[in-house]
Amino acid sequence: MASAVRTTCPYCGVGCGVVVSKDENGAFSVKGDPEHPANFGRLCSKGSALAETLVDDSRLLRPIIGETPINWKAALDLIATEFSKTIEQHGPDSVAFYVSGQLMTEAYYVANKLMKGYIGSANIDTNSRLCMASSVVGHKRAFGSDTVPGTYRDLELADLVVLVGTNLAWCHPVLYQRLAAAKKEHGTKVVVIDPRRTATCDIADMHLPIKSGSDVRLFNALLSRLATDNRLNPTFAEQYTEGLDKALEAANEDAPNLRAVAEACGLPMRDLAQFFDWFCATDKTVTVYSQGVNQSSQGADKVNAILNCHLLTGRIGQPGCGPFSVTGQPNAMGGREVGGLANTLAAHMDFDTDSIDRVQRFWDAPNMATKPGLKAVDLFDAVHSGKIKALWIMATNPAVSLPEADKVREALNKCPFVVVSDCVSSNDTMQYADVLLPTTTWGERDGTVTNSERRISRQRPFKRPPGDAREDWDIICDVARRMGYKDAFSFETVAEVFKEHAQLSAFENDGQRDFDIGGIAHLGPQAYEVLEPFQWPLRSDGKGEQERLFGSGAFFAANGKGQFIAVSHRPPENHISERFPFILNTGRVRDHWHTMTRTGLSPRLALHRSEPFLEIGPDDADVLHLSEGDLAEVNSPKGRVLLRVRLDDGLQPGTVFAPIHWSDTNSANGVVGRLIAGVTDPYSGQPESKHTPVAIAKFLPKWQALVVSRIKTSGASAEYWASVTGHDCTITTFAGTEDITDWQKWARRMSGDSGHEWLTFSDPSGGRHRFATLKNGRVESAIFVSNRNDLPSLEWAQAQFALDRLDERDRSGLLAGRPANDAFDPGPMVCSCFSVGVNTIRRAIAEQNTLTVEAIGAALQAGTNCGSCKPEIQALLDTELTSADGNMLQQEAS
Ligand code: SF4
Repeated sequence: MASAVRTTCPYCGVGCGVVVSKDENGAFSVKGDPEHPANFGRLCSKGSALAETLVDDSRLLRPIIGETPINWKAALDLIATEFSKTIEQHGPDSVAFYVSGQLMTEAYYVANKLMKGYIGSANIDTNSRLCMASSVVGHKRAFGSDTVPGTYRDLELADLVVLVGTNLAWCHPVLYQRLAAAKKEHGTKVVVIDPRRTATCDIADMHLPIKSGSDVRLFNALLSRLATDNRLNPTFAEQYTEGLDKALEAANEDAPNLRAVAEACGLPMRDLAQFFDWFCATDKTVTVYSQGVNQSSQGADKVNAILNCHLLTGRIGQPGCGPFSVTGQPNAMGGREVGGLANTLAAHMDFDTDSIDRVQRFWDAPNMATKPGLKAVDLFDAVHSGKIKALWIMATNPAVSLPEADKVREALNKCPFVVVSDCVSSNDTMQYADVLLPTTTWGERDGTVTNSERRISRQRPFKRPPGDAREDWDIICDVARRMGYKDAFSFETVAEVFKEHAQLSAFENDGQRDFDIGGIAHLGPQAYEVLEPFQWPLRSDGKGEQERLFGSGAFFAANGKGQFIAVSHRPPENHISERFPFILNTGRVRDHWHTMTRTGLSPRLALHRSEPFLEIGPDDADVLHLSEGDLAEVNSPKGRVLLRVRLDDGLQPGTVFAPIHWSDTNSANGVVGRLIAGVTDPYSGQPESKHTPVAIAKFLPKWQALVVSRIKTSGASAEYWASVTGHDCTITTFAGTEDITDWQKWARRMSGDSGHEWLTFSDPSGGRHRFATLKNGRVESAIFVSNRNDLPSLEWAQAQFALDRLDERDRSGLLAGRPANDAFDPGPMVCSCFSVGVNTIRRAIAEQNTLTVEAIGAALQAGTNCGSCKPEIQALLDTELTSADGNMLQQEAS
């Protein structure tokens, strides 16, 4: 294999290019690809740590039936037989595929072809349903096609960038970096509309902490204001669009005056007016939105409320202008292109008569599906009710990520035949599988992905898959052939699959459909191998790729016109009540991805947020008698979780936030999907994941423990625990309510009961116990137990594992549960790239007079690689510079 390979980051929808190199010892290193147009060499903390995740320890290596490892032939024969038998007995709609935005486009393509063209059902849906289905509906209603009109460059060319329901700094960090650089260069105004004050607000000129669920009203008010302010672009709106009158009528009714809207949105009238002034006055405006808009029972209407404002002003498809949906997953867009959603056909076609006929003829499909299939939440309901009897889950973990996670588990448990193909050896979903199939993962996969700006890039392999792992597209084709569809799935290479996908996109297209990559429909294997990133459409007319669309109309509705959609505010379907008085918002954190199967392998990523947590405002916390570091029990009508409390004054009273990353594999009672109801948007089927009524109470454990061990902790059983990978160790935090009388015995079990040298300290009356095992003077495990919330810092505890030999001072430190004498505790991680903790930064501020983010970077390197931690460093500076003698420091800083 080549020593430097250009490929694409497997995490978020920014789709950064990376260059992977291998040194003479076989170690990989990952750098940003300076030539990739998504990132021009930049990476975020997750992308920078990719090389650390290239370990095969937790991989699934063989197909497994029940508990028994088996060969591929037996596993695939069984799958083909069970699916064929189920279809024969109960019809095509009795089977389903649940796939993932992690899949390569080629795997998505053949899965969709098998289900919709050959099995004859459209019961294939994707976890991207949870991410951006509302944007798909919004686009299709307004543009007649699922098209993102702009390009990332527009964020740099804009004079005003409005970020709605998107924590760009943490969830699309390289886009955030590009925007921050543009702001620095030419003073781009940035407005953040988000119920939470997030890290993204660090570069905001204005933060509008909108009341959860009131976005439609805000953008309706903006539409009214744009109209009364004569901001209507007559050429554009009159020639290229229709439906404005009805949309305006609805907007005027919904948003009668500024005062009413400000009140409904929970915003200061002055700020709202200022935002409207800026929007009205700025031609070059981009509105970026993501899950905060999409994950809502009125997600599609929110999208159209935003699009209406851009259609009225004609701010679309021009440099520095446009609405911009950014996707969460690396290949959510690729999935959309091949029809990975149950309600679409391949190549951005729909279930209309002409398209069904066209796709049927192209595929020569014997059993063409003629109606949409079940969307994710409905699909799992159908599994639960017994309607779906055979289910194949590919590269996703619905037992964690779907709403009503417990009901999903019940459904999987009841389902007569479940196949899971994944790269990991265990996750919460796999325990319900009848057949497990080992797949390749990033670094081994070959294919293409599409990022949020319609840019198709190659993912290229650079390491051999371990064990018997195979490519998803290859596995699906093998099953299809065994089901009797030999010719249609006779692809020998991934390049052949891509070629067919490209040909279908151009088939009877003639510019009628947005997705067209006919310009590369005859790509041979060599050309596919070296394919450079490009944006679609890339039609066969030789005009090249199209950077922007709709600047001069040419929408894909039947009459070629963009459509205003009349929308009105509908309150979220979930309501707070006396019993569930708080609104839970969910989302991602900076350094983790999905259920942490990859980011959880990187020690430096693990420590930024090491436990499942609940962010709550200090005033609400006071009322509930919660302090920083306490544990909170969070209940909704659907389930219960236990989360570590973090105080955050960026949250509005009555609202809390929890991340989505924890599963039963890395925690106990940390799956927030258990809390979320299966309420969905009526048009998009996307669940309302940002607005769950919950009750919160202090959880009072009798004891808490921190176990750091070179061997993976086993025998863990406590009401609460959460585990992460540290440097050369596993770090697990426990809390329990059961009485433990023999702590020594417990500690021995946690440490693997090795015969190493033991250090012990016990203070039963004070409720404190500490144990450590040493081998040749090096620590093997360290166990700290307390009946208070005063466990040592993870960073300090883990640092002891880097020492080759512990001296007397280190030993006493371990038994004391804190750094001995003058030893320094770096504190919780801020900069993952250079492992710089909060205490290190505080010390630099106090002792080295580092009063700016740049000065801290110069002194400690923090923030100088990917820059993802810069907002946190700035927040730390703000706190430190306004504390006790802060006035003087602040003056110096300014
Ligand atoms: Fe990967 Fe970060 Fe780029 Fe997203 S922003 S693609 S996570 S490097």
